[in-house]
Amino acid sequence: MARAEAALAAAKKMVKELVDSPYGRQLHAQSIETDFKNIERALRFSAPYSTCPMDDPCDDKCAMCHGTQWISEAQYDGMPRELKKGNK
Ligand SMILES: [Zn+2]
Repeated sequence: MARAEAALAAAKKMVKELVDSPYGRQLHAQSIETDFKNIERALRFSAPYSTCPMDDPCDDKCAMCHGTQWISEAQYDGMPRELKKGNK
């Protein structure tokens, strides 16, 4: 995940330099910025965020973590409050 975030940051910097150059005049900087933010958000919300609240240890049949032992922030935010106790 960190490598993907670093690659995205590098790509964002390269595109910014292109937008600021004569070759980037036809690029729509605001749309590109929005697209980068969407990718950043997708990466953040799919990263490991909390331990799985289901029975420990989980296996590949666990509907929450599929055996990874962790859940994403999006999954955590969607969980009932009682499952959040003791996790995070
Ligand atoms: Zn699980």
